[in-house]
Amino acid sequence: MTEKHEIQNLIEMIHKRYAQQQDGEVATYIPQLSKANPEHFGIAILSTNGQIFECGDTGHLFTIQSISKPLTYGMALETFGEEAVFKKINVEPSGDKFNSIELEPDTNRPFNPMVNAGAITASAMLFDKYGKNAIDFILEKFSLAAGRSLEIDKEVYWSEFTTGHRNRAIAYLLLNFNVISDYVEQILEVYFAQCSILVNCHDLACIAATIANLGENPITKKEVFGIDAIKSMMSVMYVCGMYDNTGNWVNDVGIPAKSGVSGGLLGIVNRQMGIATYSPKLDEKGNSCRGISAYKDLSRELGLHAFDCMNAGSSFLTTMLK
Ligand code: GLN
Repeated sequence: MTEKHEIQNLIEMIHKRYAQQQDGEVATYIPQLSKANPEHFGIAILSTNGQIFECGDTGHLFTIQSISKPLTYGMALETFGEEAVFKKINVEPSGDKFNSIELEPDTNRPFNPMVNAGAITASAMLFDKYGKNAIDFILEKFSLAAGRSLEIDKEVYWSEFTTGHRNRAIAYLLLNFNVISDYVEQILEVYFAQCSILVNCHDLACIAATIANLGENPITKKEVFGIDAIKSMMSVMYVCGMYDNTGNWVNDVGIPAKSGVSGGLLGIVNRQMGIATYSPKLDEKGNSCRGISAYKDLSRELGLHAFDCMNAGSSFLTTMLK
C-alpha cells in the first residue's frame, strides 16, 4: 500500500479533531437553509498543480450563498472595467453586518462587494448588460471555475425570493441613490439565483484553486478570470471576506477567504492551493464554526499566513506539493 500524502493525513487529523465540535447554529433566516444537517463536515484542498485532498462530506451539495459575491464582482470587473465598478462599489470594510441597510455616507456607494449592498450592485451591473441572460452567464462562469456544470436549487431560490425583504430594502435604498436601475425585482432575481447555485466542497476547492492559479482552472486548464480581476477579487476577500470578523480572521489565518451562510468557506493560498470547508453551524457573525477551527489549524501547520515569520509558506508547500 502506498503511503498517504502528508496533506491528506493532516486534513484527516483536523477533520477528526473538530467533527464533534458543536458550537454555533444552522442559519434559519432563509427557511430552506434550516433543513441542513448540522453534522455535515467536509474539507477539500486542490493544489494549483492539480492534486486533490479530501475528507468527510465533500460531495454533499449546498447553496453557495455569499461565496458567489467575489465571483460576480470579478465578472462585473471584467465586463465594465475597474474604474466603472469602483464608481459604484467601494472596497472598504464596513465593520457592520453583511446585510446592513446602509451605504457609504458621502458617496452613497456600498462599502464593498462582499456585503449584500455591494453584491446586489454587482448583480445589477450584470443585469444591465445581460438582462434575462445574466443568470445563465453567471452559472456558466461558476461552472467553468468549478470544472463541472452547476445548477440552481430552485427551492432555496424561491425561499429567498419570497422572504428576502431585507435584501429588497437594500435594493430600494440603492435605487433611491441611483446606484441601480429600477428593475429591482429582476435584479434581486439575479442576486437570489446566484446565491442558490449548488456546489459541494470539492467544487469550492476547485473554484478556490482557480483563483489561486491566477484565474486558470488547474484541472481543465481553461481560463476563467483574467489576472487583473483575480487581483481585485483576492484583495477584497482579504479585507472584507469574513463579514465583520475579517480582522480576526486575517490575524489568525491570514489568507483571502469568503464564507457563506449555508456553511461553506473558501480560502485561497495564492499560487499554491484552493481550500474549502463545509459545515453548516455558524457563529454569531455568520461564519462556519468548524470551518474556522479547521482553517486556523491548517494555516498554523502549513505556515499559510501571509505574514507568518515562520512562513515556511511557499517554499514548504512547493516542496510538499511537488
Ligand atoms: N443569500 C444570502 C442573503 O442575501 C446570502 C448571505 C450570506 O451568505 N451571507 O442574505
